Amino acid sequence: MPACSICSNAELAETVNGLLFEKKSTLQEIADKVGSTKSSIGRHASKCFLEWKATRVKGRKGNTADSGRLLVRWPNEPTPDLQPGDSLLVVEYQQLDVAAVVRSGNPRGLGPQHLDALHEIALAEDAQHESLKLASE
Ligand SMILES: [Zn+2]
Repeated sequence: MPACSICSNAELAETVNGLLFEKKSTLQEIADKVGSTKSSIGRHASKCFLEWKATRVKGRKGNTADSGRLLVRWPNEPTPDLQPGDSLLVVEYQQLDVAAVVRSGNPRGLGPQHLDALHEIALAEDAQHESLKLASE
């Protein structure tokens, strides 16, 4: 069975499969990136890549160390009931550095609990507008 133009080069096939798997690029973008044509990538994507992906999924199921369950632990909530082979995603909120946000002058990320900081940013903005007004007069 003759291999497609992508599969005839194992390294190229691996790169293309990786890009197709990410789903971030169009067929044309992948073709441009690897120096191939959109139709070659399309043929490879609709046949070889699907087989490659199916093999990966089968391989994953055969791996007994991986239960395939992904559990999430949220802040202030108990750890979910884990079984061997489960994957646990731990969510932690980043501590907000309010002083750094005020210095940046960008109030995005501040909430009603940061009224003082929002006020400080607003005053700084007013002062800046005032100084620009004075400069233009
Ligand atoms: Zn192929």
